Amino acid sequence: MQSLSAKFISKTYLTPDVLSLCFQADNPLITFMPGQFLTFLFVVDAQEYYRPYSIATLDATQTLFTITLKILSGGIASNHLQKMQPGDVLAYFGPHGDFILNQASTSKALRLILVATGTGIVPFHAMQSVLIKQLRQHNELQVYLIHGVKTEPELIYRHAFDRNMFPQEDINSPLKDHPRFFYRFSLSQEEQCNRVQDHIKQLSPITARDDIYLCGSSHMINSTIQLLQDSQANIFIEKFS
Ligand SMILES: Cc1cc2nc3c(=O)[nH]c(=O)nc-3n(C[C@H](O)[C@H](O)[C@H](O)COP(=O)(O)OP(=O)(O)OC[C@H]3O[C@@H](n4cnc5c(N)ncnc54)[C@H](O)[C@@H]3O)c2cc1C
Repeated sequence: MQSLSAKFISKTYLTPDVLSLCFQADNPLITFMPGQFLTFLFVVDAQEYYRPYSIATLDATQTLFTITLKILSGGIASNHLQKMQPGDVLAYFGPHGDFILNQASTSKALRLILVATGTGIVPFHAMQSVLIKQLRQHNELQVYLIHGVKTEPELIYRHAFDRNMFPQEDINSPLKDHPRFFYRFSLSQEEQCNRVQDHIKQLSPITARDDIYLCGSSHMINSTIQLLQDSQANIFIEKFS
């Protein structure tokens, strides 16, 4: 498969170790479906590495996109991306991936329960317009977004989802203001310590009318699947690590 290329435009630190990078793709990402990722090729010390990153935003021209990643100590791709300069070019493949809203399933669901840890919230950020469309099409549908991080400052994209937050760049956010959209978070290393699974338990009974999307660490995904094993919910997963 032939790689495509994208030019690095700019970067923004969302937290001290979470970076959002904006790229301009040479060709419009016309096949992109919210939730999908691009696989980037990195050449470091003459060795090739491939790493997938979910798309966080894509503009109307379908060429300007952002990815958001956690900088890992010793991480090959994340450290390479952190050092990129405007005008640098990266090769990529995609978009691809099947972590997208399953429309057929959603049409039968009463609740969409979206669960993320850390940067696992990125594909859900991209799904905002699809979610608002689904809420408008299905009068009974409720959407829950549950984000798990260690401490409160790590709640990236909170301004886009939490209606209690002062609006920043997203003054018109139809999803955040929708009465059937609910944002919850868990902080595993703060005094009122809780886990994403605690929020899921509060939504019981979980039934076959629940569609559950899990994105982030294997640890969170495996323990949530275990929690839901007798529930008959439809579960869709994307493991980042
Ligand atoms: C479909 C898909 C989409 C993804 N989208 C995103 C995204 O939007 N944002 C994002 O930040 N990441 C995302 N990832 C993870 C990403 O592809 C890389 O694996 C990650 O950035 C680490 O790459 P690296 O080269 O910097 O670290 P590496 O050099 O591969 O690893 C360095 C060290 O960090 C450990 N490590 C690897 N990944 C993680 C992790 N996630 N958390 C903690 N430790 C880890 C490794 O075990 C190793 O010890 C995605 C993964 C998949 C499969």
